[in-house]
Amino acid sequence: MLTTRQQHCLKGIGIQQWSARKTSDDDRPEKTSVPVVFAQDEIEAINQFIETAQQPVESGPPVKEQDSSPAPVSQSVSENVEDEQVATRALDSWDSIIEAIHGCDACELAANCTQKVPGVGNQQADLLIVGEGPGHDEDIQGEPFVGRSGQLLDRMLAAIGIAREQVYITNIVKCRPPNNRDPKQDEAQHCRAYLEAQIKQIAPKVILSVGRVSAHNLLGSSEPVGKLIKQMHKLPGTETPVKVTYHPAYLLRNPSAKAIAWQDLKLLFQMLQ
Ligand code: URA
Repeated sequence: MLTTRQQHCLKGIGIQQWSARKTSDDDRPEKTSVPVVFAQDEIEAINQFIETAQQPVESGPPVKEQDSSPAPVSQSVSENVEDEQVATRALDSWDSIIEAIHGCDACELAANCTQKVPGVGNQQADLLIVGEGPGHDEDIQGEPFVGRSGQLLDRMLAAIGIAREQVYITNIVKCRPPNNRDPKQDEAQHCRAYLEAQIKQIAPKVILSVGRVSAHNLLGSSEPVGKLIKQMHKLPGTETPVKVTYHPAYLLRNPSAKAIAWQDLKLLFQMLQ
């Protein structure tokens, strides 16, 4: 069962807890603003996220997500004449994108990963989630966000009534950087064509950029994540809104920052309406 506060949280974002439907036509359950019915296991997932999320925090984050990163990549691949290997491939269909990623050996990451991790999910999603790069679990399974960070990401989505299968999830780089280091500038640049092609195919309503590496590369910014979170953004050169939030791995290390993530999720929910 949800506590009163948890019910309040869900009600606050227009989500009503499941209750048995009455049979009489005259006595239908009230219409909710979100056509979502939660099963018990989903409610438990929501509980787990909400339990550690606090009420709104007006001031900055309690702990800063590390802000130093290599120079971000904002340049369009079509402008990058040096990156011929990627730029000359036609990335105009899902098959060609996935095939190109699997065949890519443009940087040293390809030689050291177990397998490529192109992305997963609904190719017509309203919401595209962009992380940093595959970690250990993702490298083994070939799917983004399947480790502990991914489980938290799933709970965050569930808290606003979105199932993992409804969204598309990918990363700035499609191969695991060794020892989970940040992707280098040239590595992100080589992968940029794939990400841009994926964005073009999906044409999402909103992009959720999780973490510093994602935000810096997507937005071509080097501002602290704590600052980017407070601003509205558009993907450079497009009208596509980008919402920045903390990386789930950061939230796992700094649970108090979930209060801010909760605000981000509520805003994201509104942006998707
Ligand atoms: N972190 C990321 O940024 N992406 C993943 O796929 C997994 C962990």
